[in-house]
Amino acid sequence: MMDLKDLYRDVILDHNRNPRNFGPLPAASASADGFNPLCGDRLKLHLRLVDDRIEDIRFEGQGCAISTASASLMTESVKGRTRAEALTVFERVHHLLTDDAAEAGDELGKLAALSGVREFPARVKCASLCWHTLVAALKDDAAPAPPAVSTE
Ligand code: ZN
Repeated sequence: MMDLKDLYRDVILDHNRNPRNFGPLPAASASADGFNPLCGDRLKLHLRLVDDRIEDIRFEGQGCAISTASASLMTESVKGRTRAEALTVFERVHHLLTDDAAEAGDELGKLAALSGVREFPARVKCASLCWHTLVAALKDDAAPAPPAVSTE
């Protein structure tokens, strides 16, 4: 029988092998760079916000399996959410990663898989990199964005 740890590991492996929302986002209204010197993970996050809602989000960069899987899971999770909702998810995930007693509620969905990282304290920064980068990108968009220009 598959236990929760196997399930979590499978989610991480799946999102590392097939990252969702990976690539450039030409019509981005905000972006931010993240770097985790402990591991060498590099991440560039692009957002397109429309009426305070994350209409689209994509990421680029190169990092370890955990940083890639976390970024993939994050983009899936916050796409379609408002800025405030995304920040709430960030706080829940941050709590999940840093507090051993924290339990992933149902509302976190697949993000619960990130709790497996707590067993490897050195990797917590790999998992949290994309989330801190998300917060930076949301701040970057605090100024009204110019109208998107089609590159096609
Ligand atoms: Zn890493």
